[in-house]
Amino acid sequence: MELVFNNINSLLDSCKKEINAKKVKIVLSKIENFSPLDDIDIGYLLFAPDDYQEVIFEKAKEINQLLFDKVIKFYGVTYLSDFCLETCRYCGDNIYSNRKEWEKLIFEANKDGKIKSPKHFLTPQELKEDVLALLNKYPGLEQLCILSGDTPTLNVPRWIESLKEVASIYDKKIILNIPPLHINAFRKIRQAVPNNKLQFRVFQETYDETIYQREHPHYDYHDDRTFKLQRAILKEKRFNSAKANFWARVFSQERAIIAGFDEFGLGALFGLNNGLFGSFFEVIAFKRHSEFMYNKFGLVPETISFPRLLPSEGVDYVIPRRVTDFEYERIIAVTKLSVPQAELIITCRETAEFRRKIRPIINIEDFEARPGPGGNMANDAFFQMEIIDRRTGEEVKKEIENDGYKTI
Ligand code: SF4
Repeated sequence: MELVFNNINSLLDSCKKEINAKKVKIVLSKIENFSPLDDIDIGYLLFAPDDYQEVIFEKAKEINQLLFDKVIKFYGVTYLSDFCLETCRYCGDNIYSNRKEWEKLIFEANKDGKIKSPKHFLTPQELKEDVLALLNKYPGLEQLCILSGDTPTLNVPRWIESLKEVASIYDKKIILNIPPLHINAFRKIRQAVPNNKLQFRVFQETYDETIYQREHPHYDYHDDRTFKLQRAILKEKRFNSAKANFWARVFSQERAIIAGFDEFGLGALFGLNNGLFGSFFEVIAFKRHSEFMYNKFGLVPETISFPRLLPSEGVDYVIPRRVTDFEYERIIAVTKLSVPQAELIITCRETAEFRRKIRPIINIEDFEARPGPGGNMANDAFFQMEIIDRRTGEEVKKEIENDGYKTI
């Protein structure tokens, strides 16, 4: 099965032109009969008139509770590093804002070993302490997500050292939300923590290749004669920004599974896609990517994430196409109907009110995510993006349980 995304806009265009009440009813009856939906059915649900919003939400809720019961799982978050050599235009941790910090790190550290920087790169021991701080808040945490920017000094041995430290105090599921690696690197990481269930999760950001290239421009480190990082980069044999390679990212979940990871997660950043049909594009793409992996490995994505893009400190960036609450609710509900076995994630990037509203069609929420290195152990850590819902994990947990859900 070939994985293609470039005909999604024409498919959506036809669905938009053809949509009518009769077509929506046919799709709804397919859902009632548990018949699988094809791409066109999904397109019809996305463009169904506004008065079907509640019916679609209710169908997604029924399917979700049938498959997963009334349960919300929590995952914890720890950030290893916010240094990054990538070019993502929307992120304040990108190479353009990190350059000066990098220069300091490499050249000043050589002088006295002390760096005063707002950016951080946790040592394996510090990472362990950050995880311990999180576990103090929630000792029963079943899933831990580790994130990092893409840095030349974060090589595989350093990953292994860091993960082993974490595994020494935590034997449950680890989700690596890290830059895509070569298959051999994935394999070494897998072998380093044999007793933890491992998920590789990476966000494609957008499956529209043209928009993807615009948002993640190519950067050739050789071209930048003033960039004193060259030595470190060349040592790691990095010549250009890896993220600019759209297809290497698309197939990274496949490499992780071949290397022995137990499961994989998909994701996109909603607000980036300002093409003809905006973020509806990503809903069809999630379905295609899921089917591709199922046909190849018999696995569906364990999770699908769809954070809305928020302003990030350090970059002057206008969000290309904001997703309204109404559209977002439709997108989440249709994603649930499209890939029902995947667990859907909502985070503290959303308001408390929206999280509560959307909860019946969600499965996983973050436990007090503080998105910066050391964020669990220090209140003044530098965060990658704004946090909208700043409640403590305990407050959110109480609300969820008061609403009749079981939490894990
Ligand atoms: S989004 Fe991730 S990869 Fe891109 S610049 Fe920010 S930290 Fe780096």
